[in-house]
Amino acid sequence: MPGALKGRRITVVGAGIAGLTAAIACARRGAHVTLHERADALREVGAGLQISPNAIRVLDALGTGDAFRAASLRSHGVMLRDSAGRQVTLLDLARHRPQDQFRLIHRARLVEVLAEAATEAGARLELGCEMAGPPPDCDLIIAADGVKSVLRPLLNGTEAPFFTGQTAWRALIPDRGDTPPLAEVYMGPGRHLVSYPLPGGLRNIVAVMERREWQAEGWSQESDPEDLRAAFARFDPRARGWLDQVQRVGIWGLFRHPVAANWQDGRIALVGDAAHPTLPFIAQGAVMAIEDAWVLAACLDADPDQGAALARYQALRQPRCSKIVQAANKNAGNYHLRGPARAVAHAGLRGISRLAPTALIERFAWLYDYDPTGAV
Ligand SMILES: Cc1cc2nc3c(=O)[nH]c(=O)nc-3n(C[C@H](O)[C@H](O)[C@H](O)COP(=O)(O)OP(=O)(O)OC[C@H]3O[C@@H](n4cnc5c(N)ncnc54)[C@H](O)[C@@H]3O)c2cc1C
Repeated sequence: MPGALKGRRITVVGAGIAGLTAAIACARRGAHVTLHERADALREVGAGLQISPNAIRVLDALGTGDAFRAASLRSHGVMLRDSAGRQVTLLDLARHRPQDQFRLIHRARLVEVLAEAATEAGARLELGCEMAGPPPDCDLIIAADGVKSVLRPLLNGTEAPFFTGQTAWRALIPDRGDTPPLAEVYMGPGRHLVSYPLPGGLRNIVAVMERREWQAEGWSQESDPEDLRAAFARFDPRARGWLDQVQRVGIWGLFRHPVAANWQDGRIALVGDAAHPTLPFIAQGAVMAIEDAWVLAACLDADPDQGAALARYQALRQPRCSKIVQAANKNAGNYHLRGPARAVAHAGLRGISRLAPTALIERFAWLYDYDPTGAV
């Protein structure tokens, strides 16, 4: 019976991508939504995001597709190169999946688009409001408070993430806009570098390197650009040219967390990184957050029994998100191969691309063909 969300009092904890999308999806269905965000302002946190068609279907269904497109850039695909700059394979998405859009956006622009739509839909945004626990005065709490969620332990106990042996630098540099909008991945032994252009004359850089130890998990600490340049000093001149332009760079350790065993308890529901923090190696963290938000709202709206609706939400989302998180874990190893394993893998990829150019793209059809708006 669609319409069950009408009049429901919902508190969303966290106004990141998951929380804002959930707020839009619930408010549009008639729920009274309040968002609590601990930051004083929706700041320019983060850098670039790649957003794939499985999430864009949700943004379109929420009526935010046009604003999202205006703030983003269409990506033609993904180019894998070795550290000397030689092409290993091109996933030509514009050519082989013309019906779908893969887009590049600054995280701050996506948050802006979503925040405007949430406010328009009637959600109330309370900034500077850090929640230490579940608020008492609402029917449902949506925990969208990210990788260090304070609400997840209430459902799952305390879990210790472990260091993956990888750290990532993230930087933005100016971009002249004279190359096709592609995500380019340079793969070297024990390290890789991803770069793509963003709207507004910017280029996003994420550089990942293996190392033994790291102190603490955190969004980002300032790092010395010289360390970044030194780590990639043997990469091809084009990649090094990008790094020469880096003036400010953040670094953080990549930790692995389990996908939550319990996503809900009848009153609290986890969405986004709070439920399934992921490594960034198939660019699906924000995308999963957007998928979650739609499916959660659709389940709640379809069934007046909140407990049953939340159980259905978990049943629909947990297997898919677990599969995506595993795929991201595996990709890190593929990018960082050394010695003969690297030569064999790169030769194999070059061969497959020549013989069956769509085969590598089709391996991810399960990911990109999924339509969350038809899931419930
Ligand atoms: C290097 C890197 C590259 C990435 N690239 C991509 C990509 O290309 N594509 C993609 O889809 N994903 C990508 N991701 C992943 C993506 O950024 C995250 O998965 C996504 O931001 C998760 O959104 P979220 O809303 O769940 O959490 P967050 O974005 O972390 O938002 C949580 C919000 O909750 C607030 N909050 C936290 N605690 C409280 C509290 N107690 N009270 C109130 N508010 C609170 C925080 O201030 C924050 O605003 C990348 C991640 C990294 C690190």
